[in-house]
Amino acid sequence: MRPSTKWLAEWAGDTPRMRFQVKRGIRIGEEETLDVNLIKHTCSCNKWQLTGMPCVHAIAAIRQCRGQVSNIGATQIT
Ligand SMILES: [Zn+2]
Repeated sequence: MRPSTKWLAEWAGDTPRMRFQVKRGIRIGEEETLDVNLIKHTCSCNKWQLTGMPCVHAIAAIRQCRGQVSNIGATQIT
């Protein structure tokens, strides 16, 4: 994973504001999109579920979430 490529989280439009689509555009027409759910603690890359540690996509979503609401419950970044 190249650190120079930024992941951007977009709120998916759900009411509790806990689902995000996290995107990274490598180049035009080649965009990666992953679905992050901050309630279930899941990401479509499966790393969060498997390791129990938020993956880069989850962290991007958590950052975005914190910009909108101050309390995101039990989710912690270590
Ligand atoms: Zn992920």
